[in-house]
Amino acid sequence: MGGGDPYVPESGDASFDVDGYDLTLDYTVRTNRLEGRAVITATAVAALSAFSLDLVGLRATRVRVDGERRTAFRQGPRKLRITPARPIAAGEAFSIEVTYGGAPAPRRSRWGTIGWEELEDGALVASQPTGAPTWFPCNDRPDARAQMRLSVTTDAGYTAVPTGRPVSSVAARGRTTVVAESRVPVATYLAAVHVGRYRESWLAADPRVRVFAPPALAADAARGFARVPEMMALFESAFGPYPQEDCALVVTPDELEIPLEAQGLAVFGANHLAFEQQRLIAHELSHQWFGNSVGIGRWQDIWLNEGFACFAEWLWSERSGGHTVAQKAARHHARLHALPHDLVIADPGPDLMFDDRVYKRGALTLYALRCAVGADTFAQIVHAWVAENRHSLASTDDFRACVARVAGEGAAAVLTPWLDAAPLPPLPAPRR
Ligand SMILES: [Zn+2]
Repeated sequence: MGGGDPYVPESGDASFDVDGYDLTLDYTVRTNRLEGRAVITATAVAALSAFSLDLVGLRATRVRVDGERRTAFRQGPRKLRITPARPIAAGEAFSIEVTYGGAPAPRRSRWGTIGWEELEDGALVASQPTGAPTWFPCNDRPDARAQMRLSVTTDAGYTAVPTGRPVSSVAARGRTTVVAESRVPVATYLAAVHVGRYRESWLAADPRVRVFAPPALAADAARGFARVPEMMALFESAFGPYPQEDCALVVTPDELEIPLEAQGLAVFGANHLAFEQQRLIAHELSHQWFGNSVGIGRWQDIWLNEGFACFAEWLWSERSGGHTVAQKAARHHARLHALPHDLVIADPGPDLMFDDRVYKRGALTLYALRCAVGADTFAQIVHAWVAENRHSLASTDDFRACVARVAGEGAAAVLTPWLDAAPLPPLPAPRR
């Protein structure tokens, strides 16, 4: 059975849901060798005589369904096809255990190379949207969120930073094992592990925020993240309480093309700490509300993640004494006006789902709504949206419904020309 998301038709298997991933990983940095064991608890959606997990570039050596040794499996370049010894009934819970390993590497995709990536001295994970199978076997669907436990063992001198609330860190025989758990449901693309010669510190002004940086970059990281507590306070007042169990910010010694968020975690390159890059920090932090807590179940709704994250950048700009939200909106509207108007952001298509126009027009959509309903009602909408969809999946139509409920059908209609048609509507004027 296919995955069901038309943007990534080769990913995932819609015939079962995952309740939890329990991953035990052992990573040797020097040789880039990953040994893993995944215990996946799942529930059949349909009667199953066979099913598949996504796994790319790593070899499965042992597979058991419900502990049964007569489990058959066959591995192709992208899929691990599993035939349990006996069929599984619809609604039945079952477990899958996969022992696997190899030299993890990013996979090529139409969005570039994604997944597990070796650094100069360590590794990172940047999976969005389909990179997760480069480091663990999974049902790689955006709507298949699951609880997660990650145990990562790595070499002495290195620190592993997995997604989740840290549970333990134990050193033995020259290696260190870090365990982290997510009780909130995590999408496969939002699971991550970063490995490097990192030292942990905390932001004094907001000790919820843990920072992992190479000692040589510790001072730069402290400066770069100095205003994160203010961002946190701004976003908590604009969107609602910080929704994640953890907030860890990692700085790699390498320069990275773009920073990237994961569940309760974000990774930045050494090049992202400069003052002019603050907007990127605000962007990634805001994804903890939009994308990671309020999740999307299908990729076509990506504007909900990226539009809000861009709008959050504008809020931070205004708060920190930069351009106001209105100035940002005018500037980006002018830029979009000069670009082709051939994109419908409520369904941009897989090739353009990460196009910058989705991001900026998404933010302009929210700005148009705020202009139409006023700042107070807009704040009510955003708070309701975040609270009602906390750690669950929501769609563009859910957003329209939320707007209609809080501010009326007329307010929801404001969204239509921005979301559902390609021509760029005129720049709205703020309501007085
Ligand atoms: Zn983003």
